[in-house]
Amino acid sequence: MRLKILVIEDNEQNMYLMTFLLEKNGFDVIQAREAEQGIVLAAERKPDLILLDIQLPDMDGYTVAKKLRADPVSAGIPIIAVTSYAMLGDREKSLASGCSAHIEKPIDPDTFLDQISGYLPPRSAAEGGRS
Ligand code: MN
Repeated sequence: MRLKILVIEDNEQNMYLMTFLLEKNGFDVIQAREAEQGIVLAAERKPDLILLDIQLPDMDGYTVAKKLRADPVSAGIPIIAVTSYAMLGDREKSLASGCSAHIEKPIDPDTFLDQISGYLPPRSAAEGGRS
């Protein structure tokens, strides 16, 4: 079974790039463009990993992470915060809200897969083969 990654991101270019890179590497991508939609899809689809933009139209990503952590259905799913804030303390803030890791925009196509691979279940190494 292919691994499912939920991408919660309102910026079309970033959504396009992350979806392209993930699908190219054999992952199924579930897209959400708003926080509430992302929280619903996390519970419904139970993805293997969540990529979470911190700046969303309806709710900030830290609040989303806390809500996902508070729901037993999504509490165990790794969350990687994706943020364009270049501010000191962002990493700490995302970790404090329950995120497993933090990556910064702009997304670098050359390092993106490496940045998330450590937070995927082990079998993804074989199924999500690099190209
Ligand atoms: Mn955003």
